[in-house]
Amino acid sequence: MGSNMSDPSGPTRSALIGVDVGATSMSAGLVTLDGEVLDVVEMGTHVSGPRSAVATLLRVVQQLVADARRQGLALGGVGVGLPGPVDAVKGMMLAVHPKNHVPEFGHLPLAEQIRELTHLPTFVDNDVNALALAEHAFGAGRGTSSLALLAVGTEVGGALIIDGALVRGQDGYGGELGHVPINFDGPACICGGRGCLGAYLGGRLLAEEARRRVARDADSPLLELAGGHADAITSAMVFAAAAAGDAVAVKLVDQACEALAATLAVIVNGINPEMVVVTGGVAPSLAPLVADVVHRAGKYALGPPLANTRIRIAATEKRLTVRGGAALVLHELARRGRS
Ligand SMILES: [Zn+2]
Repeated sequence: MGSNMSDPSGPTRSALIGVDVGATSMSAGLVTLDGEVLDVVEMGTHVSGPRSAVATLLRVVQQLVADARRQGLALGGVGVGLPGPVDAVKGMMLAVHPKNHVPEFGHLPLAEQIRELTHLPTFVDNDVNALALAEHAFGAGRGTSSLALLAVGTEVGGALIIDGALVRGQDGYGGELGHVPINFDGPACICGGRGCLGAYLGGRLLAEEARRRVARDADSPLLELAGGHADAITSAMVFAAAAAGDAVAVKLVDQACEALAATLAVIVNGINPEMVVVTGGVAPSLAPLVADVVHRAGKYALGPPLANTRIRIAATEKRLTVRGGAALVLHELARRGRS
């Protein structure tokens, strides 16, 4: 980190660049070492056309480097969360995987490209791994040594931190809790498996299943909630309708809670973490159901570790997702400093 003389009144402030790449939108920002988000730029992932995401990302990183310089901030590194499995050593997202929503990042040495552009330490990882590191460093999981994170959005992602270290596994697939099979006879999943958690809890499939079911029932209160248009049904509406007693919605939410309870048991029995953080777009809908889910998990999980596990709902604003990349930089620099 170079010295910076632009602020003679005090020591140089430091910041990190964090980037969160999603299938439809991308956020990038300057984040302090304490996780305070200073600036955020949000844009469509393909705002400049098909397969343009890499060029957009490199441009916005350059822009943030210039912004930091203008503000007298010393930059400590760049961290990027990508929507797919990542080889963190090579600094690239793996290609040819059904979860690759932004295929142009597949097998592209992104960390190296950003490093050449910025001359800053640069790290890339799976977006949900980055989110878990942010919760661990700055959020609900601060002070814990182990946590599991479930990101419940359109799909369900997962990540594990054990003894303060992210669990990537041998190939970068570590922590894929959304693809834990919870029903032997369940539907086929995009991962190639069957009966995965994501099929019961993910917002997209929950809404799709609700649309299919209300199509057979013209008097459905859920359909009414969607203004009479089945296509307008969202997962949030399904949860709201269930709370109001709608039969179709009650059944789907019951299944979702049971699926989450079974996964909680997998986490508790398999890893015994201090905390489970549930985040993502569906998290606010799950917040009132946490006690019910933990009660259901009692059927599947070992009693003492379940009772000791703290469950936290941490619905983050979109702009806070840039903390993931920042936490990734801190995690990797600390890890490399130790070895
Ligand atoms: Zn799956």
